[in-house]
Amino acid sequence: MQNIQNYINGSFQNPIQNKWIDNYNPSKGEVYGQIPNSTKEDVENAYKAAKSAFPKWSQTSIEERSKILIKISELIEENLDAFSQAESKDNGKPISLAKAVDIPRSASNFRFFGNAITQFASESHESIGQAINYTLRQPIGVVGCISPWNLPLYLFTWKIAPAIAAGNCVVAKPSEVTPMTAYLLGEICSEAGLPKGVLNIVHGLGSTTGQAIIEHKDIKAISFTGGTATGAHIAKIAAPMFKKLSLELGGKNPNIIFADCDYDDMLNTTVRSSFANQGQICLCGSRIFVEASIYEKFKKDFVTKVKALKVGHPAEANTNIGALVSKAHLEKVKEYIDIAKTENGTILYGGNKVTVEGFENGYYLEPTIIEVPSDECRVNQEEIFGPVVTIMPFNKEDEVLKMANKVKYGLSATLWTNNLKRTMRMSNQLQAGIVWVNTWMMRDLRTPFGGIKASGVGREGGFEALRFFTEAKNVCIKY
Ligand code: NAD
Repeated sequence: MQNIQNYINGSFQNPIQNKWIDNYNPSKGEVYGQIPNSTKEDVENAYKAAKSAFPKWSQTSIEERSKILIKISELIEENLDAFSQAESKDNGKPISLAKAVDIPRSASNFRFFGNAITQFASESHESIGQAINYTLRQPIGVVGCISPWNLPLYLFTWKIAPAIAAGNCVVAKPSEVTPMTAYLLGEICSEAGLPKGVLNIVHGLGSTTGQAIIEHKDIKAISFTGGTATGAHIAKIAAPMFKKLSLELGGKNPNIIFADCDYDDMLNTTVRSSFANQGQICLCGSRIFVEASIYEKFKKDFVTKVKALKVGHPAEANTNIGALVSKAHLEKVKEYIDIAKTENGTILYGGNKVTVEGFENGYYLEPTIIEVPSDECRVNQEEIFGPVVTIMPFNKEDEVLKMANKVKYGLSATLWTNNLKRTMRMSNQLQAGIVWVNTWMMRDLRTPFGGIKASGVGREGGFEALRFFTEAKNVCIKY
Protein backbone atom coordinates (compact mmCIF):
# COMPACT_ATOMS: atom_id res chain seq x y z
CA MET A 1 0.00 0.00 0.00
CA GLN A 2 1.23 3.47 -0.87
CA ASN A 3 -0.19 5.87 1.70
CA ILE A 4 0.36 9.57 1.34
CA GLN A 5 0.31 12.54 3.71
CA ASN A 6 -0.34 16.24 3.64
CA TYR A 7 2.63 18.54 3.06
CA ILE A 8 2.27 21.41 5.51
CA ASN A 9 4.95 23.86 6.62
CA GLY A 10 7.60 21.83 4.82
CA SER A 11 6.82 18.52 6.51
CA PHE A 12 4.62 15.51 5.86
CA GLN A 13 1.72 15.10 8.27
CA ASN A 14 -1.25 12.84 8.87
CA PRO A 15 -4.70 14.47 8.82
CA ILE A 16 -5.70 15.73 12.27
CA GLN A 17 -8.96 13.78 12.42
CA ASN A 18 -7.25 10.70 11.02
CA LYS A 19 -9.79 10.36 8.21
CA TRP A 20 -8.63 8.56 5.06
CA ILE A 21 -9.95 7.67 1.63
CA ASP A 22 -9.00 4.88 -0.74
CA ASN A 23 -6.83 5.59 -3.74
CA TYR A 24 -7.43 3.40 -6.81
CA ASN A 25 -5.21 2.16 -9.58
CA PRO A 26 -7.64 2.37 -12.52
CA SER A 27 -5.63 0.03 -14.76
CA LYS A 28 -6.30 -2.76 -12.26
CA GLY A 29 -9.47 -1.51 -10.62
CA GLU A 30 -7.82 -1.98 -7.23
CA VAL A 31 -7.17 0.11 -4.16
CA TYR A 32 -3.43 0.66 -3.83
CA GLY A 33 -3.19 3.21 -1.07
CA GLN A 34 -4.90 5.71 1.17
CA ILE A 35 -4.91 9.48 1.17
CA PRO A 36 -5.94 11.95 3.87
CA ASN A 37 -9.46 13.30 3.79
CA SER A 38 -8.37 16.58 5.32
CA THR A 39 -10.79 18.69 7.31
CA LYS A 40 -11.06 22.38 8.23
CA GLU A 41 -8.39 21.92 10.90
CA ASP A 42 -5.81 20.71 8.36
CA VAL A 43 -6.69 23.55 6.00
CA GLU A 44 -6.35 25.99 8.91
CA ASN A 45 -2.88 24.62 9.69
CA ALA A 46 -1.93 24.93 6.03
CA TYR A 47 -3.26 28.49 6.01
CA LYS A 48 -1.31 29.42 9.16
CA ALA A 49 1.90 28.01 7.69
CA ALA A 50 1.30 29.99 4.49
CA LYS A 51 0.45 33.15 6.39
CA SER A 52 3.63 33.05 8.46
CA ALA A 53 5.77 32.34 5.38
CA PHE A 54 4.24 35.21 3.40
CA PRO A 55 6.05 38.29 4.81
CA LYS A 56 9.47 36.83 4.02
CA TRP A 57 8.57 35.12 0.74
CA SER A 58 6.86 38.21 -0.66
CA GLN A 59 10.04 40.17 0.07
CA THR A 60 12.36 37.54 -1.39
CA SER A 61 14.18 38.86 -4.43
CA ILE A 62 12.93 37.98 -7.90
CA GLU A 63 16.29 36.32 -8.64
CA GLU A 64 16.00 34.05 -5.61
CA ARG A 65 12.40 33.06 -6.37
CA SER A 66 13.35 32.41 -9.97
CA LYS A 67 16.32 30.26 -8.93
CA ILE A 68 14.15 28.08 -6.68
CA LEU A 69 11.44 27.61 -9.31
CA ILE A 70 14.00 26.59 -11.90
CA LYS A 71 15.56 24.17 -9.42
CA ILE A 72 12.13 22.57 -8.85
CA SER A 73 11.81 22.23 -12.61
CA GLU A 74 15.20 20.50 -12.85
CA LEU A 75 14.38 18.10 -10.04
CA ILE A 76 11.12 17.10 -11.73
CA GLU A 77 13.10 16.40 -14.89
CA GLU A 78 15.65 14.32 -12.95
CA ASN A 79 12.79 12.25 -11.58
CA LEU A 80 10.96 11.92 -14.90
CA ASP A 81 10.62 8.14 -14.72
CA ALA A 82 9.34 8.01 -11.14
CA PHE A 83 6.85 10.83 -11.75
CA SER A 84 5.62 9.31 -15.04
CA GLN A 85 5.07 5.92 -13.48
CA ALA A 86 3.25 7.42 -10.52
CA GLU A 87 1.04 9.56 -12.78
CA SER A 88 0.15 6.61 -14.96
CA LYS A 89 -0.63 4.32 -12.03
CA ASP A 90 -2.85 6.94 -10.41
CA ASN A 91 -4.66 8.10 -13.53
CA GLY A 92 -4.65 5.17 -15.99
CA LYS A 93 -2.96 7.17 -18.78
CA PRO A 94 -0.22 5.46 -20.84
CA ILE A 95 3.19 5.90 -19.20
CA SER A 96 4.47 6.98 -22.62
CA LEU A 97 2.03 9.92 -22.55
CA ALA A 98 2.92 10.92 -18.98
CA LYS A 99 6.59 10.78 -19.94
CA ALA A 100 6.19 12.76 -23.17
CA VAL A 101 3.60 15.30 -22.07
CA ASP A 102 2.43 15.49 -18.45
CA ILE A 103 5.70 15.46 -16.56
CA PRO A 104 7.85 17.47 -19.00
CA ARG A 105 5.11 20.09 -19.06
CA SER A 106 4.98 20.18 -15.24
CA ALA A 107 8.73 20.89 -15.26
CA SER A 108 8.19 23.53 -17.98
CA ASN A 109 5.55 25.25 -15.88
CA PHE A 110 8.08 25.92 -13.11
CA ARG A 111 10.83 26.88 -15.55
CA PHE A 112 8.51 29.14 -17.53
CA PHE A 113 7.22 31.07 -14.51
CA GLY A 114 10.70 31.10 -12.95
CA ASN A 115 11.78 33.00 -16.06
CA ALA A 116 8.56 34.96 -16.60
CA ILE A 117 8.72 36.62 -13.19
CA THR A 118 12.08 38.15 -14.11
CA GLN A 119 10.38 39.85 -17.08
CA PHE A 120 7.11 40.85 -15.40
CA ALA A 121 6.72 44.62 -15.37
CA SER A 122 4.04 47.11 -14.51
CA GLU A 123 2.95 50.33 -16.15
CA SER A 124 3.66 53.94 -15.45
CA HIS A 125 1.55 56.83 -16.75
CA GLU A 126 2.62 60.40 -16.86
CA SER A 127 -0.14 63.00 -16.41
CA ILE A 128 1.82 65.60 -18.32
CA GLY A 129 2.83 68.61 -16.27
CA GLN A 130 0.99 67.33 -13.19
CA ALA A 131 1.96 63.95 -11.85
CA ILE A 132 3.50 60.59 -12.45
CA ASN A 133 1.55 57.40 -11.82
CA TYR A 134 3.16 54.06 -11.35
CA THR A 135 1.41 50.77 -10.79
CA LEU A 136 2.65 48.26 -8.27
CA ARG A 137 1.83 44.58 -8.77
CA GLN A 138 1.82 43.20 -5.26
CA PRO A 139 1.31 39.57 -4.25
CA ILE A 140 -2.15 38.89 -2.83
CA GLY A 141 -1.18 36.88 0.26
CA VAL A 142 -2.42 33.34 0.82
CA VAL A 143 -4.12 31.88 -2.25
CA GLY A 144 -5.89 28.58 -2.96
CA CYS A 145 -5.20 26.33 -5.96
CA ILE A 146 -7.56 23.45 -6.73
CA SER A 147 -7.02 21.10 -9.67
CA PRO A 148 -8.69 18.13 -11.44
CA TRP A 149 -7.67 14.55 -12.23
CA ASN A 150 -7.18 14.52 -15.98
CA LEU A 151 -3.74 16.16 -16.19
CA PRO A 152 -2.84 15.90 -12.51
CA LEU A 153 0.65 17.34 -12.05
CA TYR A 154 0.47 19.37 -15.26
CA LEU A 155 -2.52 21.44 -14.10
CA PHE A 156 -1.53 21.51 -10.42
CA THR A 157 1.82 23.11 -11.27
CA TRP A 158 0.24 25.41 -13.88
CA LYS A 159 -1.40 27.23 -10.95
CA ILE A 160 1.18 26.84 -8.21
CA ALA A 161 4.16 28.03 -10.24
CA PRO A 162 2.78 31.51 -11.12
CA ALA A 163 1.27 31.89 -7.63
CA ILE A 164 4.58 31.43 -5.83
CA ALA A 165 6.60 33.17 -8.56
CA ALA A 166 4.50 36.29 -7.89
CA GLY A 167 5.31 36.12 -4.17
CA ASN A 168 2.18 34.47 -2.78
CA CYS A 169 1.98 31.51 -0.41
CA VAL A 170 -0.30 28.68 -1.38
CA VAL A 171 -2.78 26.20 0.05
CA ALA A 172 -3.24 23.68 -2.74
CA LYS A 173 -5.46 20.66 -3.24
CA PRO A 174 -5.00 18.17 -6.07
CA SER A 175 -7.86 15.92 -7.11
CA GLU A 176 -8.57 13.18 -4.60
CA VAL A 177 -8.74 10.81 -7.59
CA THR A 178 -5.10 11.46 -8.60
CA PRO A 179 -3.12 12.79 -5.62
CA MET A 180 0.15 10.90 -6.01
CA THR A 181 2.34 13.23 -8.07
CA ALA A 182 1.26 16.25 -6.01
CA TYR A 183 2.45 14.30 -2.98
CA LEU A 184 5.81 13.65 -4.65
CA LEU A 185 6.10 17.34 -5.50
CA GLY A 186 6.32 18.22 -1.77
CA GLU A 187 9.60 16.41 -1.40
CA ILE A 188 11.02 18.08 -4.52
CA CYS A 189 10.06 21.54 -3.25
CA SER A 190 11.88 20.97 0.05
CA GLU A 191 14.93 19.70 -1.82
CA ALA A 192 14.91 22.73 -4.12
CA GLY A 193 15.04 25.03 -1.10
CA LEU A 194 11.48 26.38 -1.22
CA PRO A 195 11.03 27.87 2.26
CA LYS A 196 8.63 26.11 4.63
CA GLY A 197 5.02 27.19 4.32
CA VAL A 198 5.30 28.76 0.85
CA LEU A 199 3.53 25.75 -0.65
CA ASN A 200 1.17 23.60 1.43
CA ILE A 201 -0.56 20.59 -0.12
CA VAL A 202 -3.68 19.24 1.53
CA HIS A 203 -5.40 16.13 0.23
CA GLY A 204 -9.03 15.16 0.41
CA LEU A 205 -12.49 15.29 -1.10
CA GLY A 206 -13.88 18.38 -2.75
CA SER A 207 -16.80 18.50 -0.37
CA THR A 208 -14.56 18.51 2.73
CA THR A 209 -11.03 19.74 1.97
CA GLY A 210 -11.90 21.77 -1.13
CA GLN A 211 -14.91 23.31 0.57
CA ALA A 212 -12.75 24.32 3.58
CA ILE A 213 -10.34 26.12 1.23
CA ILE A 214 -12.99 28.07 -0.65
CA GLU A 215 -14.84 28.97 2.58
CA HIS A 216 -11.69 30.17 4.33
CA LYS A 217 -12.20 33.89 4.78
CA ASP A 218 -8.49 34.77 4.60
CA ILE A 219 -7.61 32.76 1.51
CA LYS A 220 -8.00 35.70 -0.80
CA ALA A 221 -7.94 34.17 -4.28
CA ILE A 222 -8.97 30.83 -5.71
CA SER A 223 -7.55 29.42 -8.92
CA PHE A 224 -9.73 26.47 -9.86
CA THR A 225 -9.76 24.00 -12.75
CA GLY A 226 -12.53 21.41 -12.91
CA GLY A 227 -16.15 20.90 -13.82
CA THR A 228 -18.59 23.71 -14.62
CA ALA A 229 -21.01 22.77 -11.81
CA THR A 230 -18.18 22.85 -9.26
CA GLY A 231 -17.04 26.20 -10.66
CA ALA A 232 -20.53 27.65 -10.21
CA HIS A 233 -20.62 26.36 -6.63
CA ILE A 234 -17.23 27.91 -5.87
CA ALA A 235 -18.31 31.24 -7.35
CA LYS A 236 -21.40 31.26 -5.13
CA ILE A 237 -19.34 30.74 -1.98
CA ALA A 238 -16.43 33.00 -2.91
CA ALA A 239 -18.25 35.98 -4.43
CA PRO A 240 -19.77 37.38 -1.19
CA MET A 241 -16.27 37.33 0.33
CA PHE A 242 -14.94 39.19 -2.76
CA LYS A 243 -12.27 36.62 -3.45
CA LYS A 244 -10.42 36.89 -6.70
CA LEU A 245 -11.46 33.95 -8.89
CA SER A 246 -10.01 32.20 -11.90
CA LEU A 247 -12.26 29.39 -13.12
CA GLU A 248 -11.15 27.01 -15.87
CA LEU A 249 -14.13 24.76 -16.53
CA GLY A 250 -15.62 22.21 -18.92
CA GLY A 251 -15.75 22.20 -22.69
CA LYS A 252 -17.52 20.68 -25.69
CA ASN A 253 -15.16 21.75 -28.39
CA PRO A 254 -15.91 21.72 -32.11
CA ASN A 255 -13.44 20.26 -34.60
CA ILE A 256 -14.44 21.79 -37.94
CA ILE A 257 -13.06 20.17 -41.07
CA PHE A 258 -13.29 21.81 -44.49
CA ALA A 259 -12.61 19.91 -47.72
CA ASP A 260 -9.66 22.19 -48.60
CA CYS A 261 -7.57 21.18 -45.57
CA ASP A 262 -4.33 19.17 -45.59
CA TYR A 263 -6.16 15.89 -45.30
CA ASP A 264 -3.53 13.54 -43.83
CA ASP A 265 -2.38 16.03 -41.24
CA MET A 266 -6.01 16.69 -40.30
CA LEU A 267 -6.79 12.98 -40.04
CA ASN A 268 -3.81 12.12 -37.84
CA THR A 269 -4.34 15.13 -35.60
CA THR A 270 -8.07 14.45 -35.34
CA VAL A 271 -7.37 10.95 -34.02
CA ARG A 272 -5.23 12.58 -31.31
CA SER A 273 -7.59 15.45 -30.55
CA SER A 274 -10.40 12.93 -30.15
CA PHE A 275 -8.75 10.25 -28.04
CA ALA A 276 -5.51 11.46 -26.43
CA ASN A 277 -5.54 10.75 -22.70
CA GLN A 278 -8.65 8.59 -23.27
CA GLY A 279 -10.44 11.73 -24.47
CA GLN A 280 -10.13 13.17 -20.98
CA ILE A 281 -8.67 16.54 -21.94
CA CYS A 282 -10.84 19.62 -21.60
CA LEU A 283 -9.52 20.69 -25.03
CA CYS A 284 -10.39 17.50 -26.93
CA GLY A 285 -12.38 18.14 -30.08
CA SER A 286 -15.38 16.06 -29.11
CA ARG A 287 -17.76 17.37 -31.80
CA ILE A 288 -16.45 16.72 -35.29
CA PHE A 289 -18.12 18.59 -38.17
CA VAL A 290 -17.02 17.57 -41.67
CA GLU A 291 -17.81 19.33 -44.95
CA ALA A 292 -20.27 17.13 -46.85
CA SER A 293 -18.08 16.67 -49.94
CA ILE A 294 -15.46 14.71 -47.95
CA TYR A 295 -17.75 13.31 -45.25
CA GLU A 296 -17.98 9.69 -46.48
CA LYS A 297 -14.25 9.48 -47.17
CA PHE A 298 -13.42 10.96 -43.76
CA LYS A 299 -15.81 8.59 -42.02
CA LYS A 300 -14.15 5.55 -43.58
CA ASP A 301 -10.58 6.72 -42.99
CA PHE A 302 -11.25 7.90 -39.44
CA VAL A 303 -12.88 4.61 -38.43
CA THR A 304 -9.95 2.67 -39.94
CA LYS A 305 -7.41 4.72 -37.99
CA VAL A 306 -9.33 4.53 -34.74
CA LYS A 307 -9.77 0.76 -35.07
CA ALA A 308 -5.99 0.48 -35.14
CA LEU A 309 -5.59 2.19 -31.75
CA LYS A 310 -4.57 -0.25 -29.06
CA VAL A 311 -6.49 -0.17 -25.81
CA GLY A 312 -4.25 -1.72 -23.20
CA HIS A 313 -2.37 -1.56 -19.94
CA PRO A 314 -0.78 1.88 -19.51
CA ALA A 315 2.68 0.42 -18.91
CA GLU A 316 2.84 -1.31 -22.29
CA ALA A 317 4.82 0.59 -24.87
CA ASN A 318 2.34 0.03 -27.71
CA THR A 319 -0.74 1.12 -25.73
CA ASN A 320 -2.51 4.12 -27.27
CA ILE A 321 -5.48 4.21 -24.95
CA GLY A 322 -5.13 3.33 -21.29
CA ALA A 323 -7.76 3.07 -18.56
CA LEU A 324 -10.38 5.66 -17.74
CA VAL A 325 -9.75 7.34 -14.43
CA SER A 326 -12.38 5.64 -12.25
CA LYS A 327 -15.24 3.20 -12.24
CA ALA A 328 -17.75 6.00 -11.71
CA HIS A 329 -16.36 7.87 -14.70
CA LEU A 330 -16.43 4.77 -16.89
CA GLU A 331 -20.09 4.27 -15.96
CA LYS A 332 -20.87 7.90 -16.78
CA VAL A 333 -19.24 7.67 -20.21
CA LYS A 334 -21.02 4.39 -20.97
CA GLU A 335 -24.31 5.98 -20.00
CA TYR A 336 -23.76 8.63 -22.67
CA ILE A 337 -23.19 5.90 -25.26
CA ASP A 338 -26.59 4.47 -24.28
CA ILE A 339 -28.15 7.92 -24.49
CA ALA A 340 -26.75 8.26 -28.02
CA LYS A 341 -28.56 5.10 -29.05
CA THR A 342 -31.87 6.40 -27.74
CA GLU A 343 -31.27 9.61 -29.68
CA ASN A 344 -30.86 7.72 -32.97
CA GLY A 345 -27.10 8.05 -33.01
CA THR A 346 -25.20 5.41 -34.99
CA ILE A 347 -22.18 3.87 -33.28
CA LEU A 348 -19.68 3.75 -36.15
CA TYR A 349 -17.02 2.21 -33.97
CA GLY A 350 -16.52 1.22 -30.32
CA GLY A 351 -19.01 1.64 -27.52
CA ASN A 352 -17.94 -1.37 -25.50
CA LYS A 353 -15.95 -2.04 -22.38
CA VAL A 354 -12.61 -3.73 -23.09
CA THR A 355 -11.22 -6.59 -21.01
CA VAL A 356 -7.44 -6.41 -20.86
CA GLU A 357 -5.84 -9.75 -20.09
CA GLY A 358 -4.37 -9.86 -16.61
CA PHE A 359 -6.18 -6.62 -15.68
CA GLU A 360 -9.78 -7.72 -16.00
CA ASN A 361 -11.07 -5.28 -13.38
CA GLY A 362 -9.48 -2.22 -15.03
CA TYR A 363 -11.64 0.59 -16.45
CA TYR A 364 -11.05 0.18 -20.17
CA LEU A 365 -13.34 1.37 -22.95
CA GLU A 366 -13.11 1.28 -26.74
CA PRO A 367 -12.62 4.60 -28.49
CA THR A 368 -16.11 5.42 -29.70
CA ILE A 369 -17.33 7.29 -32.75
CA ILE A 370 -21.00 8.25 -32.90
CA GLU A 371 -22.67 9.62 -36.02
CA VAL A 372 -25.39 11.96 -34.82
CA PRO A 373 -28.52 13.02 -36.72
CA SER A 374 -28.64 16.46 -35.09
CA ASP A 375 -26.25 18.81 -33.36
CA GLU A 376 -28.86 19.39 -30.67
CA CYS A 377 -28.84 15.88 -29.20
CA ARG A 378 -27.49 15.46 -25.68
CA VAL A 379 -24.29 13.69 -26.70
CA ASN A 380 -23.53 16.69 -28.86
CA GLN A 381 -24.36 19.25 -26.19
CA GLU A 382 -23.15 17.81 -22.89
CA GLU A 383 -19.55 17.25 -21.85
CA ILE A 384 -18.77 13.50 -21.81
CA PHE A 385 -15.03 13.82 -21.11
CA GLY A 386 -14.13 10.35 -22.31
CA PRO A 387 -13.06 8.51 -25.48
CA VAL A 388 -16.24 9.44 -27.33
CA VAL A 389 -16.68 11.77 -30.29
CA THR A 390 -19.67 12.67 -32.40
CA ILE A 391 -19.50 13.30 -36.11
CA MET A 392 -21.88 14.89 -38.58
CA PRO A 393 -21.67 16.61 -41.99
CA PHE A 394 -22.28 20.24 -42.88
CA ASN A 395 -22.76 22.10 -46.15
CA LYS A 396 -22.11 25.78 -45.48
CA GLU A 397 -19.76 27.87 -43.41
CA ASP A 398 -22.65 29.75 -41.76
CA GLU A 399 -24.36 26.53 -40.85
CA VAL A 400 -21.30 24.99 -39.16
CA LEU A 401 -20.50 28.21 -37.35
CA LYS A 402 -23.97 28.25 -35.87
CA MET A 403 -23.71 24.63 -34.76
CA ALA A 404 -20.23 25.16 -33.35
CA ASN A 405 -21.45 28.05 -31.21
CA LYS A 406 -24.75 26.47 -30.19
CA VAL A 407 -23.50 24.91 -26.92
CA LYS A 408 -23.23 26.38 -23.46
CA TYR A 409 -19.45 25.97 -23.46
CA GLY A 410 -16.73 28.06 -25.13
CA LEU A 411 -13.30 26.68 -24.35
CA SER A 412 -11.52 25.85 -27.60
CA ALA A 413 -12.24 25.22 -31.28
CA THR A 414 -10.21 23.63 -34.06
CA LEU A 415 -10.51 24.68 -37.66
CA TRP A 416 -9.08 22.77 -40.63
CA THR A 417 -8.87 24.84 -43.81
CA ASN A 418 -6.35 26.44 -46.13
CA ASN A 419 -8.63 29.35 -46.97
CA LEU A 420 -7.16 32.44 -45.32
CA LYS A 421 -10.26 34.61 -45.48
CA ARG A 422 -12.42 31.86 -44.06
CA THR A 423 -9.85 31.31 -41.30
CA MET A 424 -10.06 34.94 -40.30
CA ARG A 425 -13.85 35.16 -40.57
CA MET A 426 -14.42 32.05 -38.53
CA SER A 427 -11.72 32.70 -35.93
CA ASN A 428 -13.39 36.04 -35.26
CA GLN A 429 -16.79 34.51 -34.78
CA LEU A 430 -16.13 31.23 -33.02
CA GLN A 431 -17.23 31.51 -29.40
CA ALA A 432 -14.13 30.11 -27.72
CA GLY A 433 -11.16 31.30 -25.69
CA ILE A 434 -8.73 29.42 -27.93
CA VAL A 435 -8.93 28.74 -31.67
CA TRP A 436 -6.46 26.34 -33.29
CA VAL A 437 -6.13 26.48 -37.07
CA ASN A 438 -4.64 23.42 -38.78
CA THR A 439 -3.29 22.13 -35.47
CA TRP A 440 -4.45 21.10 -32.01
CA MET A 441 -3.15 21.64 -28.50
CA MET A 442 -0.09 23.50 -29.68
CA ARG A 443 0.71 25.53 -26.62
CA ASP A 444 2.97 28.52 -26.17
CA LEU A 445 2.97 29.18 -22.42
CA ARG A 446 3.05 32.95 -22.97
CA THR A 447 -0.44 32.95 -24.51
CA PRO A 448 -3.70 33.51 -22.62
CA PHE A 449 -5.49 30.28 -21.78
CA GLY A 450 -9.12 29.94 -20.76
CA GLY A 451 -12.71 29.82 -21.88
CA ILE A 452 -15.84 31.89 -22.25
CA LYS A 453 -19.51 31.12 -21.47
CA ALA A 454 -19.79 28.06 -19.17
CA SER A 455 -16.12 27.23 -19.78
CA GLY A 456 -14.95 29.73 -17.25
CA VAL A 457 -13.90 33.17 -16.13
CA GLY A 458 -10.41 34.63 -16.37
CA ARG A 459 -7.27 33.59 -18.20
CA GLU A 460 -4.23 31.62 -17.17
CA GLY A 461 -0.84 31.53 -18.85
CA GLY A 462 1.99 34.01 -19.29
CA PHE A 463 1.59 37.43 -17.75
CA GLU A 464 -2.18 36.86 -17.43
CA ALA A 465 -1.47 34.38 -14.64
CA LEU A 466 0.99 36.74 -12.94
CA ARG A 467 -1.63 39.51 -13.16
CA PHE A 468 -4.22 37.21 -11.60
CA PHE A 469 -1.92 36.39 -8.70
CA THR A 470 -1.13 40.05 -7.95
CA GLU A 471 -3.10 43.12 -6.94
CA ALA A 472 -2.55 46.24 -8.97
CA LYS A 473 -2.01 49.35 -6.87
CA ASN A 474 -1.64 52.71 -8.53
CA VAL A 475 0.57 55.34 -6.89
CA CYS A 476 0.05 58.93 -8.09
CA ILE A 477 2.79 61.45 -7.23
CA LYS A 478 2.10 65.11 -7.93
CA TYR A 479 5.06 67.06 -9.32
P1 NAD B 1 -14.42 18.44 -10.39
O1 NAD B 1 -15.05 19.77 -10.54
O2 NAD B 1 -15.23 17.32 -9.90
O3 NAD B 1 -13.17 18.53 -9.39
C1 NAD B 1 -12.09 19.41 -9.61
C2 NAD B 1 -11.43 19.72 -8.27
O4 NAD B 1 -12.36 20.44 -7.48
C3 NAD B 1 -11.05 18.47 -7.46
O5 NAD B 1 -9.85 18.71 -6.79
C4 NAD B 1 -12.19 18.37 -6.48
O6 NAD B 1 -11.88 17.69 -5.31
C5 NAD B 1 -12.48 19.84 -6.22
N1 NAD B 1 -13.81 20.13 -5.67
C6 NAD B 1 -14.97 19.44 -5.86
N2 NAD B 1 -15.95 20.00 -5.14
C7 NAD B 1 -15.42 21.08 -4.50
C8 NAD B 1 -15.94 22.05 -3.60
N3 NAD B 1 -17.20 22.03 -3.18
N4 NAD B 1 -15.12 23.01 -3.17
C9 NAD B 1 -13.83 23.05 -3.57
N5 NAD B 1 -13.27 22.15 -4.39
C10 NAD B 1 -14.06 21.16 -4.85
O7 NAD B 1 -13.75 18.11 -11.79
P2 NAD B 1 -12.99 16.79 -12.22
O8 NAD B 1 -13.99 15.71 -12.44
O9 NAD B 1 -11.84 16.56 -11.31
O10 NAD B 1 -12.36 17.25 -13.62
C11 NAD B 1 -13.03 17.16 -14.83
C12 NAD B 1 -13.55 18.50 -15.27
O11 NAD B 1 -12.48 19.43 -15.32
C13 NAD B 1 -14.12 18.48 -16.67
O12 NAD B 1 -15.33 19.21 -16.68
C14 NAD B 1 -13.07 19.18 -17.50
O13 NAD B 1 -13.53 19.80 -18.66
C15 NAD B 1 -12.56 20.17 -16.53
N6 NAD B 1 -11.23 20.64 -16.93
C16 NAD B 1 -11.11 21.92 -17.39
C17 NAD B 1 -9.87 22.40 -17.80
C18 NAD B 1 -9.69 23.81 -18.30
O14 NAD B 1 -8.56 24.26 -18.39
N7 NAD B 1 -10.75 24.53 -18.63
C19 NAD B 1 -8.75 21.55 -17.73
C20 NAD B 1 -8.92 20.26 -17.26
C21 NAD B 1 -10.17 19.82 -16.85
